[in-house]
Amino acid sequence: MTLSVADPPVSSAVAARLALPPHVFVDGRAEQPLSGDALPVLDPATGRALGTAADAGPADVARAVAAASRAGDPAGQWRRTTPIERGRVLHRIGDAILARAAEFAELEVLDAGKLLGAARAIDVDFAARAFHYYAGWPTKIVGSTVPVSHPGVHVRTEKDPVGVVGAITAWNFPLLLCGWKLAPALAAGCTVVLKPSEETPHSALWLAELALEAGLPPGVLNVVPGRGDTAGRALVEHPGVDKISFTGSTAVGTDIARRAAHHLTRVTLELGGKSANIVFPDADLDAAVEGSAGGIFWHAGQTCSAPSRLFVHRSVHDEVVERLRAVASGLRPGHGLDATTELGPLVNARQRERVAGHVRRAGEQGAVVHVGADVPDDGFFHPATILSGARDDMACAREEIFGPVLTVLPFDDTDEVLRRADASEYGLAAGLWTRSVDTAHRATKALRAGTVYVNGWGLTDPAAPFGGFRHSGYGRDLGPDALEGYLETKSVWTFHA
Ligand code: NAD
Repeated sequence: MTLSVADPPVSSAVAARLALPPHVFVDGRAEQPLSGDALPVLDPATGRALGTAADAGPADVARAVAAASRAGDPAGQWRRTTPIERGRVLHRIGDAILARAAEFAELEVLDAGKLLGAARAIDVDFAARAFHYYAGWPTKIVGSTVPVSHPGVHVRTEKDPVGVVGAITAWNFPLLLCGWKLAPALAAGCTVVLKPSEETPHSALWLAELALEAGLPPGVLNVVPGRGDTAGRALVEHPGVDKISFTGSTAVGTDIARRAAHHLTRVTLELGGKSANIVFPDADLDAAVEGSAGGIFWHAGQTCSAPSRLFVHRSVHDEVVERLRAVASGLRPGHGLDATTELGPLVNARQRERVAGHVRRAGEQGAVVHVGADVPDDGFFHPATILSGARDDMACAREEIFGPVLTVLPFDDTDEVLRRADASEYGLAAGLWTRSVDTAHRATKALRAGTVYVNGWGLTDPAAPFGGFRHSGYGRDLGPDALEGYLETKSVWTFHA
């Protein structure tokens, strides 16, 4: 069957954003990139171009870093802004996002292939809440007095902003990740050069304009859309950048850590995952199936913490696989702006080929491939897919697929499953479904992951730190931990006569 996806009607505000000429946002102004280059931005649901965006080069990055350095000068306006006022500015940025929530949600659907309801309720809402949460922090960043064992001196610590932050973000949560990176950095008093993904640059550029209107001084937030190996790399290698905060793949994160080491630039890495999710035999199966399917099929599996390895006790394995198959077959694919759509596209053709290749190889290696509902030929869709009968050592059970593909693996006892679940190079999230408090405690202790869910999946909150163990990265986004990552500690020694 051939299914096609029509271009949906787009609001005039969003159409106007998409029609803007390719630009960077530097020192409070939208300007043509010095590189003179542009890239097409595609709608993943149709595969057709939405418009073009700047493909910033090293000269654009250098200009943005210079603006951020000037704006972050200790005698400059941002550092002299009182903590109360800094909090107010952050609050107003959160409010500005909410005031344009409908348009931002539409923009995220078009750029990233999201579903409108989720884009509004999760991406846009969380971005705003991140600013609202961190708006409360500038007034609570405190040092301490230190009881040193020297007579005649007084020692105290104070917290300084780390300086110029280079933020590099992935395409799967364009606006949300702006909130995760920018809000704590600005609360700490840092200035920022943001390089959004070349696939999804529109919301970050708009946010920078709104932040200026909300009272953020020019140069405090600069946005340079462009490719990773040009603009991203120039940002990582720039000696004027004090910290890189990165969200993306483990391969690129590793490269960034290596390059940043040259200038000892501080680095926080939020990377990939292959999160284990365990259904114990005493679990509430209705909740476990709903939560597990929701976790993997939401945003077509393109979430870093996707529960893509599902361990199911052998006694309920076949029943769970059958129920998951039914969910996969029932998901309605389509354009995210159509309110009835339940499965959106992958972000681009390359990603669709990668996911299809994983499924093909799993089948060749002996896994049983259960393919869900047909998907459109337009755009970059991949059907929701369940793989059963796989082994732990197969690529589909080890590697991040980043698509709507769930590998289901049976287990027999608790020690065995905890060992197998933990035998991963990643450690971003893990989950378990059980009615036993004892099993829940044992498992949460045993699983090495930055987030562990018990009888639920996928919630995040600005107050709760988020990040990875092992190859899922280091450092944390969100919560007080993220703020700490944008601060340096200074010990001040005062000698008394
Ligand atoms: P990616 O690593 O390809 O790209 C991420 C960003 O890095 C983009 O802005 C890209 O332009 C830039 N980049 C690419 N090469 C670069 C280089 N050499 N130097 C500097 N920057 C470079 O990742 P993606 O495909 O955009 O996103 C998907 C990945 O992100 C997945 O692995 C997913 O798990 C991960 N992710 C992690 C989290 C988390 O919080 N842990 C959240 C979302 C996504």
